[in-house]
Amino acid sequence: MREFFMHSYSLIASAKINLYLEIIRARPDGYHDLVMVLQSIDLADQIDLHSRSDDSICLHCNHPEVPQDHNNLAYKAAALMAAKFPDAFAKYGGVDITIHKRIPVGAGLAGGSTNAAAVLIGLDLMWNLKLSDKQLQYLGSLLGSDVPFCIVGGTMLATGRGEYLTPLPVLDSFYVVLGKYRSLSVSTAWAYQTFRHLYFGSHVSDSLTIENLRQPVCSADMVSAINHQNQQQIGQLIYNDLERVVLPEYRKVQRLKEEFQRLGCPAMMSGSGPTVFALTNSQAKAQQVLESVKTAIADPDLELWVSRFTPSSIRVASFHK
Ligand code: ATP
Repeated sequence: MREFFMHSYSLIASAKINLYLEIIRARPDGYHDLVMVLQSIDLADQIDLHSRSDDSICLHCNHPEVPQDHNNLAYKAAALMAAKFPDAFAKYGGVDITIHKRIPVGAGLAGGSTNAAAVLIGLDLMWNLKLSDKQLQYLGSLLGSDVPFCIVGGTMLATGRGEYLTPLPVLDSFYVVLGKYRSLSVSTAWAYQTFRHLYFGSHVSDSLTIENLRQPVCSADMVSAINHQNQQQIGQLIYNDLERVVLPEYRKVQRLKEEFQRLGCPAMMSGSGPTVFALTNSQAKAQQVLESVKTAIADPDLELWVSRFTPSSIRVASFHK
């Protein structure tokens, strides 16, 4: 009979924003080769893990749009750990996963990915596996492109699908104002497929489109600005290719970006959106920008947050062994 280990872990799982997202090419496997600069922020979910006396995985979440079954990325992370480490799963038993959602869903902030990363890290600790970051990132890559970043977090250059990661110097002096319309969410798959169709489709032969696509390519400048901690240049170089397909479709998101810019802040959509972020260098300025945008747009559907850059993604808040 199994010995019952009553373990519990509470983890804080941070969201991310994309300071830079450039789509280099469409790959035959349906994915895209990207160059991204990813940044963890302190807007975070809380993930509680409790061991169970049976061998089931159960998931609860307080957000109505988040699946509570095997479709949840956090559930998939636990199922993957159980499949990869059957001896540990047999020894320690199943797990109750409770997600306290604070990161908006379908927002381009990697909410699902960071929850999955927290479960991989939490079960590694609970099951005493002592996996390295590299091993955890490999497991994360089987779940989704942003999960490997979420294992470590901070400020990273990501290439390939997002799984090849190079740490960059920590940027910790930025504050960020986030804006998202509660009723809007963008499917990441839709955004990439639309981009692929418009810019990499077999019908694209005209030189204007190809020239248009070549224009940005300033990831090296962004990396250099980060290496030199040059805040002004970082603000000038933020970039996201997916804005080209999302902003024309969602005019409210375009308007929100323009409002941040009108207030003098560098602003950009994160990932596949529709969250827009604006950079500031103090909390007071960020709060002031938030209040100004709230007044200027005056739409109860618009949610705004002040957050700040953070040097890691997942941290253990408490545990009981
Ligand atoms: P990314 O920036 O990685 O593309 P996102 O922030 O745009 O992700 P998520 O919040 O991760 O999007 O949610 C995308 C979809 O994934 C949601 O519509 C939801 O149904 C599903 N999902 C599965 N697991 C989770 C989870 N743990 N948290 C949030 N959404 C989840």
